Amino acid sequence: MSSVTTDGQHNIGYLCTRGQCEAGRSDRVALRFITPSLERHDYTFADLDGLTNRFANALATLGFGKGDMFFTFLPKAVPQFVAFLGALKLEVVAGTLFSNFGEEAILDRLGDASAKGVITKKSFVKKIAAVRDRMPALRWIIVIDSDRHLADDILSYDRLMAESSHEFTVPRTSPDTPAILHYTSGSTGKPKGVLHVHRAVLSHTATAAGVLGLRQNDVYWCTADQGWVTGTSYGIVGPWNLGVTQIQFAGSYNPESWFRILDEERVNVWYTAPTALRMLMREEPDFYSRFSLPSLRTIFSVGEPLNPEVIAWIRRTFSRDIFDTWFQTETGAIMIANRPGQEIRPGAMGKPVDGIEAAIVSDEGDPVADTVTGNLCVRAGWPSMFVTYLNNPEVYAGKFKNGWYYSGDKAYRDPDGYFWFVGRSDDVINTAGHLISPFEIESTLLEIEEVAEAGVVGVPDEILFEKVVAFVALHRKYGYSQELELKIRLYVTHKLSSVATPHDVVFVEDIPKNKSGKIMRRVLKARYLGTDAGDISTLEV
Ligand code: ATP
Ligand code: MG
Repeated sequence: MSSVTTDGQHNIGYLCTRGQCEAGRSDRVALRFITPSLERHDYTFADLDGLTNRFANALATLGFGKGDMFFTFLPKAVPQFVAFLGALKLEVVAGTLFSNFGEEAILDRLGDASAKGVITKKSFVKKIAAVRDRMPALRWIIVIDSDRHLADDILSYDRLMAESSHEFTVPRTSPDTPAILHYTSGSTGKPKGVLHVHRAVLSHTATAAGVLGLRQNDVYWCTADQGWVTGTSYGIVGPWNLGVTQIQFAGSYNPESWFRILDEERVNVWYTAPTALRMLMREEPDFYSRFSLPSLRTIFSVGEPLNPEVIAWIRRTFSRDIFDTWFQTETGAIMIANRPGQEIRPGAMGKPVDGIEAAIVSDEGDPVADTVTGNLCVRAGWPSMFVTYLNNPEVYAGKFKNGWYYSGDKAYRDPDGYFWFVGRSDDVINTAGHLISPFEIESTLLEIEEVAEAGVVGVPDEILFEKVVAFVALHRKYGYSQELELKIRLYVTHKLSSVATPHDVVFVEDIPKNKSGKIMRRVLKARYLGTDAGDISTLEV
């Protein structure tokens, strides 16, 4: 079903638009864009092809060419998809920025990448302008919400599109051509510019078919923002290269709208994140009885460990399974996953996907025995493997040893080949000589009725080396009490062990998360210790 053409055309922009038309899908809806008030706007593959051709022509007229860097800096909007694929058609590298970024975060990314252009909206131009003198490579700003050019170098998208031809001949693009640039979520430090090439489409497509199980007439919804890798690999490239109709919802998180969309749009496959699911779990069960989700075949999750309690809640509430998937910006596509047809072990991420060799490897580069915690590694050379960290070749080189790519996550494999996430290398807690997974403690805390969210960190301790500190946010109807604190401690002792028992339980309103929804444990740790949390440009506020 993949439409990677036999003549070796790897151009992602081409494959997701013209390639689909050539495969007979011109009139099929590619993009169903849903506004916050739930109005729909449909675009067929032929529409997308014409629009992206116009955008490629517009960029060419402005002097863009192969290898130049162009970014989208937009909330969900149709031009974001047009610009992304249009730039790729011209062999311009397409980068995406999360729309809430402030000045410094913009500088860290557009400046680092020497971006030559960015598409945004009028109200964001100020943020770019504030740091523009420190981004000498930035020539062009295109705005989507003005029908006239605002300055010599701040141009109207509508005008550029109207003045450009809808015909464009996409060059035959070799697999090694740079394509997509993402900055990582910045959960552990300063975000890094991760570059992928057009060859990555092979992994996106194979996993969209083989793991997500997308079929040609499916309606599919990936809730990720296009600023993150999931939003491009599985919110643009893989599904469109399979001819699938994608929902894109411009509204913010809202259980009512989300479930109406799943129901009314007859979504077949839904790809979301644990943080969203944990929020949905806060709704009363009655709320969900209104939705039958008639067409929903499968639900997938990515971005953080999928807590067993979430799996149990989905089973209880929707009589369905949810499948965890593991990947990173650097891997570009899903590497390890649960999927239909393979028994789910709640708490495990699943098994490596077809064509991927994953292993737990020692610091010295040798695979370790089953059940031993070590570095989660992938055998280098899969198609969507990143090709560099921009401006950081040494850090890139340091990620490989003996042919293994070191993901920076710790995990173990059980004797049946399932991989169990333990933590990011920096987050794993070393207490009294035991290695403890913060995720395991968090998942246990979520089983307690009063607890809505939890974040667990290890902080330095003279005797234990590190001690366990748990931050918990309670469901709205509960409040702090000493008994509850005791209950929490006893529960963890009973379920896990005394070494996992939190020395301190800190009650908070909310757990700090970054903009892609991940718990920011280093922020919790810094708060507890009263130290500086470092780069917090991706902190959700
Ligand atoms: P940075 O590298 O800047 O600290 P980040 O690692 O959060 O940011 P991403 O590439 O978006 O940036 O996230 C990938 C990471 O997310 C993985 O390395 C892993 O730690 C976590 N992750 C993703 N999926 C899963 C999953 N299914 N289970 C557990 N952890 C996951
Ligand atoms: Mg990372």
